[in-house]
Amino acid sequence: MLIGAFFAFDLGHYFTLDYFKSQQAAIAAYYAAQPLRTAAIFFIVYVIVTALSFPGATVMTLVAGAIFGLWWGTIIVSFASSLGATLAFLASRYVLRDWIQRKFGDRLAAINAGIAKDGPFYLFTLRLVPVFPFFVINLAMGLTPIRTWAFYWVSQLGMLAGTLVYVNAGTEIAKIDSLGGILSPTLLVSFTLLGIFPFIAKQLVESIKSRRVYARWPRPARFDRNVVVIGAGSAGLVTAYIAAAVKAKVSLVERRRLGGDCLYTGCVPSKALIRSAKFLAQARRARKLGMTSADVQFDFARVMERVQRVITAIEPHDSIERYTKLGVDCVIGDAKIVSPWAVEVTTATGTRTLTTKNIVIAAGARPFIPPIPGITDIKPLTSDTVWSLRKLPARLVVLGGGPIGCELAQCFARCGSQVTQVEMLPRLLMREDAEISTMVMQQFRAEGVAVLTGHKAQRVIVENGEKILVVENDGRESRIPFDELLCAVGRAANTAGYGLEALGIPTTKTHTVELNEYLQTAFPNIYAAGDVAGPYQFTHTASHMAWYAAVNALFGRFKKFKVDYSVVPWATFTEPEVARVGLNEQEAREKGIAYEVVKYDLAELDRAIADEEARGIVKVLTAPGSDKILGATIVGEHAGDLLAEFVLAMKHGLGLNKILGTIHTYPTLAEATKYAAGAWKRAQVTQGQVDFLATFNAYMRDDTGVSSVLGKLPELLRDKRRAYAPDAKP
Ligand SMILES: Cc1cc2nc3c(=O)[nH]c(=O)nc-3n(C[C@H](O)[C@H](O)[C@H](O)COP(=O)(O)OP(=O)(O)OC[C@H]3O[C@@H](n4cnc5c(N)ncnc54)[C@H](O)[C@@H]3O)c2cc1C
Repeated sequence: MLIGAFFAFDLGHYFTLDYFKSQQAAIAAYYAAQPLRTAAIFFIVYVIVTALSFPGATVMTLVAGAIFGLWWGTIIVSFASSLGATLAFLASRYVLRDWIQRKFGDRLAAINAGIAKDGPFYLFTLRLVPVFPFFVINLAMGLTPIRTWAFYWVSQLGMLAGTLVYVNAGTEIAKIDSLGGILSPTLLVSFTLLGIFPFIAKQLVESIKSRRVYARWPRPARFDRNVVVIGAGSAGLVTAYIAAAVKAKVSLVERRRLGGDCLYTGCVPSKALIRSAKFLAQARRARKLGMTSADVQFDFARVMERVQRVITAIEPHDSIERYTKLGVDCVIGDAKIVSPWAVEVTTATGTRTLTTKNIVIAAGARPFIPPIPGITDIKPLTSDTVWSLRKLPARLVVLGGGPIGCELAQCFARCGSQVTQVEMLPRLLMREDAEISTMVMQQFRAEGVAVLTGHKAQRVIVENGEKILVVENDGRESRIPFDELLCAVGRAANTAGYGLEALGIPTTKTHTVELNEYLQTAFPNIYAAGDVAGPYQFTHTASHMAWYAAVNALFGRFKKFKVDYSVVPWATFTEPEVARVGLNEQEAREKGIAYEVVKYDLAELDRAIADEEARGIVKVLTAPGSDKILGATIVGEHAGDLLAEFVLAMKHGLGLNKILGTIHTYPTLAEATKYAAGAWKRAQVTQGQVDFLATFNAYMRDDTGVSSVLGKLPELLRDKRRAYAPDAKP
């Protein structure tokens, strides 16, 4: 009611500087006559304004300076604002919880994470550095576990400096009696202080934090390098490349071979195997293309040799020779961080210590083997080891229904293995919408993969020399005999054994290196990028992060960039391919984001029909009532490639109208994105608009009235055209 009254009776105008100035003389007179009462009334009004989160606290702080002067003003405001803030905090904690969660949910996530990590110190920095509005902090903190008393005193302490600055500015405003007064040097200094205060406060906080973390480590006077990069996978290579390109002195330390997972055990071999397996599947569909038959003979060992040939063909892109030529000092050895400024490298010939201004950790991840009894005894295959197979397993169990498990399950089934895919969750590709998972699962089943979702692997046993996986579903156990088991249940970041523990660099709940938005670890000169840090584990996100790590490490003193994950695409290269950027329905609902959805069925696309690939979907989420793209999922042939148009559109803020207004070559699969935009446009047309057009066109068909005039328009225009024709007689 109070909040309603505030706005209904426009009480806000009492909290403007103009109003105060118009009443300044009267207030000053009242204060001279009744100093205590004035202070008490001011105090109570201030508490009410802040407790109810009304706009006006800033103006009141300035006014306090004007009425009470610097010291009394500061004391009154300091207590009133802390008390009001605490009342708002309590209201939020006990009354407004649900509403605040809905309204400020996105900002709350960041604040909650900060409180969990640093407790009251985090609140102190929030108070000191006003990046969040004063009232949002009060309300948001009510939803965190912080204690009321801690909230009160940390708020009072944290806000003191800011209060002083504002009250001081207020004392100067009170003295202004002419326009010239605005330019008084003291006032200018006050406002400059106001402006630069957040930056000074931020620097102060950062310097306190960094002193705390570097306290144990003596800093060398000079460094041999600008940056040492640990790990030469996608993230490390790109970091080193950028550093060398800007002529920084960079050492890239790799314990095995340059190229990392992507080249040797990840993207490259998997995509090479997928290509061969796809050929086999297409040959089986030969009749659909009008062939009588296409009998393909193949040898699994030769297919796997081809995979190695592909790796060898790409290897030079990531070679020591290439990177050395680019100016990178490549060191083959085991890296260990021994201080924030030194990396010890154990090479074949001995140990060296590299001193460096910055370190970028790009140590990657490894396949995670879950603690299932008996699993390690049978030496399961993983994405690390599967590439050395030369004999096709007759019966293969694939553990895991994520992208890696799905890609490999389909490949092996197409090569002729009898594949059973076991997934604990209710469906494959759990991050995608249910209908997308279903499309993939139906295709897998049609190709002979036994997909067991909702099945939990219990143990691996060996009976009479036969390996058996025991799984549980709905309280019932069943047994799956197999020759090989491929474990693809996730990837664990490499965070142990190279110095993070000794330095005390924290890791997250998901066991990746903990970073801030600039990709800095707890030590501001130590960065991380790629799989070791997440949150996405893709080659393109590794290189994306590498750019931020390299640029922030080398130039962060002048300008730091926050890593931007707003438009992250990815694809699962199964058949049908699944590609996504931005939100899908599942995520939009989880995050409480309103959306509209439009779908285009690839069964209707001419090129897909001609190619016998007419299956799949383009699904686009838009902001309600607008063509702004919130996310897109494509399922079907070359989905990963088709997605690029949506990625570009989202990155540069282009809506579906822009895609619709762009010529797409006929007949291509790429037209699918335009048709999805067309489907969206049609959905926007209201019945009223349709009725209007029908009436208009009916009117135009009628030869009487206005329509007869309109009907003559073409003729009139023709005359005009003739008048402009060079050879025409007027
Ligand atoms: C089967 C499979 C398929 C995949 N397919 C795709 C795909 O299609 N598209 C996609 O985008 N992503 C794909 N990925 C993921 C992609 O491979 C990874 O996200 C990417 O390789 C991560 O790069 P990175 O630099 O973070 O780590 P890595 O490539 O793992 O590199 C880390 C390097 O650090 C080295 N290292 C670690 N510790 C030390 C140390 N102490 N001293 C020296 N060196 C050290 C390691 O030897 C390694 O070479 C796939 C992954 C797998 C497993």
